[in-house]
Amino acid sequence: MTHSRKSITGSNIDYRKHLIVKPGSKVDLSSIDPGFKAPHDSKASSQGLLAKCVQRLAELQYLIYAENRRSLLICLQGLDAAGKDGTIRHVLGAMNPQGARVHAFKVPSTLEAAHDFLWRAHQQAPARGEVVVFNRSHYEDVLVARVHGLVPKDVWSKRYDRINDFEKNITQGGTHILKFFLHISDEEQLQRFKQRLVDPKRQWKISEADYTERKLWPEYVRAYEEALSRTSTSNAPWFVIPADRKWFRNLAIGTILVQTLESLRMKTPAPTVDIDDIRRRYHVAQRDQKKVASGQRTAGFNQP
Ligand code: AMP
Ligand code: MG
Repeated sequence: MTHSRKSITGSNIDYRKHLIVKPGSKVDLSSIDPGFKAPHDSKASSQGLLAKCVQRLAELQYLIYAENRRSLLICLQGLDAAGKDGTIRHVLGAMNPQGARVHAFKVPSTLEAAHDFLWRAHQQAPARGEVVVFNRSHYEDVLVARVHGLVPKDVWSKRYDRINDFEKNITQGGTHILKFFLHISDEEQLQRFKQRLVDPKRQWKISEADYTERKLWPEYVRAYEEALSRTSTSNAPWFVIPADRKWFRNLAIGTILVQTLESLRMKTPAPTVDIDDIRRRYHVAQRDQKKVASGQRTAGFNQP
């Protein structure tokens, strides 16, 4: 565990260092507790910190937009009910739709399936100045595609290197990439399935696939472990986020995003005009406005 100065979270833990998958390391998910929470933190104490984080994130996103030099791609992956939608709502929801968007990766359409698997990811990758959240991502092509044998091993096994090349490519074009695996336990997943069942407002989320996929848990864990191990790079790192506690998940992701974006030391761009000249013009406009206003008042008095 790495300790650092107190961060925006008020905790001593540097989540970026603590939760990152070190490039080249081998991930064993069974050794990572999905219920982990930073010492002394609790849901109640996290609310104020999360609010600060969310607000700061909105400011940082505004800077990305204003700078119009770089972009940010956030990939969210996790098993069903791991909390991808909740993360978007609670952590990323305060960003300005002007410059931020979410793209959900579903079963590929006929058009998408007729192309290379990275085609749709590249199309949705952020433009300069944009923040894009992938709700699921091109990683489905080494997860569900592998677990369900949608393509032969000889095809999916070559995709890790191709994903790394793709991510390097867009990174060199100015995109920062952060990838989060929301790590939940199978008990917590079942608990969340139960909530969906008993709460009529959540029933729309239930899909039969939830239960067929759950049976394939060990296969998914293996697929995730390989994906996390082979595609966490210094430019596009993976973070394993303990996600049984929603408040911890939100705080950890929010903090990692804020810390990473703050390290870019972004500034609002320099003005593109001569400010002294514009100031002079402003004062002229202000004088003219005053004259017009006083003229209107005088005209008003003269009316019968
Ligand atoms: P949801 O995220 O619950 O809306 O479900 C989207 C579904 O689309 C999940 O079951 C994913 O596994 C599936 N999906 C996403 N990408 C792919 C892909 N490349 N190939 C097959 N299924 C996919
Ligand atoms: Mg689902």
